[in-house]
Amino acid sequence: MARKHEGHAVGIDLGTTYSCVAVWQEQQCRVEIIHNDQGNRTTPSSVAFTENQRLIGDAAKNQAAANPTNTVFDAKRLIGRKYSDPIVKNDILMWPFKVTAGADDKPMIVVTYKDQEKHFSAEEISSMVLTKMQEIAEAFLESPVCNAVITVPAYFNGSQRKATRDAGAIAGLNVMRIISEPTAAAIAYGLYKRLDCTGERNIFIFDLGGGTFDVSLLTIKGKVFQVKATAGNTHLGGEDFDNRVVSYFVKEFERKNKVDISVNARALRRLRTACEKAKRTLSYAVTATVELDAFFAGIDFYSSITRARFEELNSDLFRECLETVDQCLTDAKMDKASVHDVVLVGGSSRIPKVQELLQEFFKGKELCKSINPDEAVAYGAAVTAALLNGSTKSTAPDLVLQDVTPLSLGVQTKGDVMTVVIPRNTTIPVKKSQNLCTIIDDQFEMVQDIYEGERTRASDNNLLSGFSLCGIPPAPKGHLVSICFELDADGILCVTSEEKTTGNKNQITITNDKGKLPQEEIERLVEEAERYKVEDEKFLKKANAIRSLDDYVYDMEKALIRSKICPEDKKQLNSAIDRARTLLDDGDKEKKEIHVFVEYLNEAKLIFEPIKAKTG
Ligand code: AMP
Repeated sequence: MARKHEGHAVGIDLGTTYSCVAVWQEQQCRVEIIHNDQGNRTTPSSVAFTENQRLIGDAAKNQAAANPTNTVFDAKRLIGRKYSDPIVKNDILMWPFKVTAGADDKPMIVVTYKDQEKHFSAEEISSMVLTKMQEIAEAFLESPVCNAVITVPAYFNGSQRKATRDAGAIAGLNVMRIISEPTAAAIAYGLYKRLDCTGERNIFIFDLGGGTFDVSLLTIKGKVFQVKATAGNTHLGGEDFDNRVVSYFVKEFERKNKVDISVNARALRRLRTACEKAKRTLSYAVTATVELDAFFAGIDFYSSITRARFEELNSDLFRECLETVDQCLTDAKMDKASVHDVVLVGGSSRIPKVQELLQEFFKGKELCKSINPDEAVAYGAAVTAALLNGSTKSTAPDLVLQDVTPLSLGVQTKGDVMTVVIPRNTTIPVKKSQNLCTIIDDQFEMVQDIYEGERTRASDNNLLSGFSLCGIPPAPKGHLVSICFELDADGILCVTSEEKTTGNKNQITITNDKGKLPQEEIERLVEEAERYKVEDEKFLKKANAIRSLDDYVYDMEKALIRSKICPEDKKQLNSAIDRARTLLDDGDKEKKEIHVFVEYLNEAKLIFEPIKAKTG
């Protein structure tokens, strides 16, 4: 019988196919993975709509075959994305339910509910799954659960994280924190407590689930968890291994009975369920049987499969997993010998061959597998939730999670220069301000583009959003406007700009489709930035030379108006200004070498400096 608890905060692993909820039990000093009303510790992330009701979890999944177009799953693949996103377009082809484009290119899931067509966003579907997880926790704890930590893949961008947070809010949850799944798994194993003498621990998270495969390399230093690299395949997992076994038996049935059952949806469905069960059996036994009475046209199907055959059928997929592991280490520029811990996550990481290959790859290193791999992420989220809730007196591990910005964030300033406001690898949450100058006299509006990336030329980076501030009072160029970047603990960016003398302000939160980049893209940009470093430095030097010349010419122009200059000097000054302006206004000036601008500046100085000295 569950006991009554007050003020609980739970951890929720909102998965693509299954979700899991867990809570830190103060008195027992441990995490409890909460079972649902069916007695299962994970719940399908499925929602079904029928003529008279809405079903969530096992109830939805169990009737999926009879109601495919109104049974929604995989909402996580849509969350925070745009309908026109090629990833979304590809996924839609695989789903039996309909998805259309809604306002602002938002993908909307179309179902028939109570005989009416209804459109739901991915956030709404996810909120329904979250509500179910909340109910599961409340039934177990016998008290309201309002606070939660929700996990997302490490590669989720700001828009996807924000949408996940929104799903929690729609479900009426106070989302205390969105954390990355590999970080949660590392917390579950308490690996932060085992820091070696250099104070840094490298953890490799191998997460092979039902439909997705994610690997991450995480470094823990002090209380900072930093995802160094991620790799994976969004369409590789247990279901692919099931499919290989299904094809194997389809061929066997055809060979024995001269009937092709691959066109019969019901027979295939029954066979797939039996194959998934056999696959699980093969994780602890060397053979598994498949028994299907009256399988097709009255014919029974009894057969068996060995572990060796299963491994052979999937050997290329298992090899692919290892290639991804290698790729992740290469991206992180880390040798496998530098990895301190290898953590197994996801149901398919139980497959003995997968474990064997992984252990071999890491030269015999023991794998962390004591926590149920389906539950490790929810486990870590529950620990984090208890810490953030402050409900733990002393028993929860002492850890304050900190993440870092994967890419520099900044604005485009004159000459397409990326002016960094928050540098890469800054610990979040963080708030940083920078003063920007108006570039012409009496500039009324400042229009700014916000970028993320490591390149010196702003337009070589990823454009996040445009931004403007109006109502700047008349003032000479160089008038200061402050811009403030605030990145919250979930990695969501809010930009505010303010003109101090008038108090005029503008604020935006970056969540659009050009929003923050997926991890692979981040890695690519960082790599590219390194590669182009030399070119970038050259560009920056030239941009600075152009800017210096421009500023100098501006000063000369001002002096012509304001200062008393003799006609002879005026003539010289005018001709120097004309020459420099011709160069600066030349549309092809970017193609000119830096020395041209430096020479023009020196020439202008030779003329203007003596005049300045004379006029004071
Ligand atoms: P997850 O998405 O992490 O819940 O993983 C679910 C996947 O893990 C499904 O494809 C399951 O068939 C698979 N799975 C669960 N347990 C086992 C097991 N003992 N052996 C092999 N695969 C398993």
